[in-house]
Amino acid sequence: MARKIPSPGPSPLALFDPVRSPTYRSRPLFAPIPRGHDLLTFEIPQQPAAKTLPLCEGLNIGPEEFLLAAGPCAVESKDQMQSSAELVAAAGANMLRGGAFKPRTSPDSFQGLGAEGLRILRDSGHRVGLPVVTEVMDPREVALVAEHAAVLQVGSRNMQNIPLLRELGRQNLPVLLKRGAAATIEEFLNAAEYIRREGNERILLCERGIRGFDPSTRFVLDLAAVPVLKSRSELPVIVDPSHGTGHRHLVLPMARAAVAAGADGLLVEVHPDPERARSDGPQALRPEDFSRLVEEIRELLPMLGKTLSPPRVNSTAKVQASAR
Ligand code: PEP
Ligand code: MN
Repeated sequence: MARKIPSPGPSPLALFDPVRSPTYRSRPLFAPIPRGHDLLTFEIPQQPAAKTLPLCEGLNIGPEEFLLAAGPCAVESKDQMQSSAELVAAAGANMLRGGAFKPRTSPDSFQGLGAEGLRILRDSGHRVGLPVVTEVMDPREVALVAEHAAVLQVGSRNMQNIPLLRELGRQNLPVLLKRGAAATIEEFLNAAEYIRREGNERILLCERGIRGFDPSTRFVLDLAAVPVLKSRSELPVIVDPSHGTGHRHLVLPMARAAVAAGADGLLVEVHPDPERARSDGPQALRPEDFSRLVEEIRELLPMLGKTLSPPRVNSTAKVQASAR
């Protein structure tokens, strides 16, 4: 005879409805942060009103204005940079990227062209009418880089370089702050707070992937960070699907996903001849890949209430001069 199994009653899990739980809405997402962190908010449902941030004359980033910064990992030569600038401008990027000071994992790898690279980058941007973003690694080089760039980038490896953050906080240029590969959201926001404390409130937060355990991708691109950051800060959030994945064929799908997650911009590596790139060739888009990415992004953006427009000025010289 079959034994009658007593009903276990409702599972404790079935009884817990996190959304209806009275404690859910009042519970902070993270431990409260000490007073004075004015960029940050703590309650889950509070969505700070995202602000439009002027990047330079004729170019903003914000809830309606999308930033597409593209170009090679590193400035390698005048020819390579000029063809990069021409191809990204023709495809529809509104900012040119390129590293002159490269934070390479190995001291034996190409370290960038330094000051010469900055000049090449600025001139290439000028020729195609695009402002430029480039990385600064050392507080002693901030003034030099600021003479050439419209936006100053802090690389992942330097997210907690406090003297660098403080120095950037004293500049009158926007700062593109990349998330450290092992940084929590709170550490990331605190790094932004170091910049703001010195007076510079023009900060773009960039999710670029965090360290995972699976070598299938270079990093784990944390797209949930986009809405989390937006729930805690009014700063624009952009995504770098190139470093975040490390593989060219993954860049377009993750760029689409980043736009759908609400990103205000993308930072994408593109190279005229990726097989010859001196750094990060495997993740660099080819010219035709990049054109396709722009076409697809342009179709998606209106659904998110955003547009991608070129800088509304004729001369980059004017753009960069007016940014100071
Ligand atoms: C870069 O964008 O050039 C770069 C070095 O990226 P990350 O700092 O994210 O590694
Ligand atoms: Mn790179």
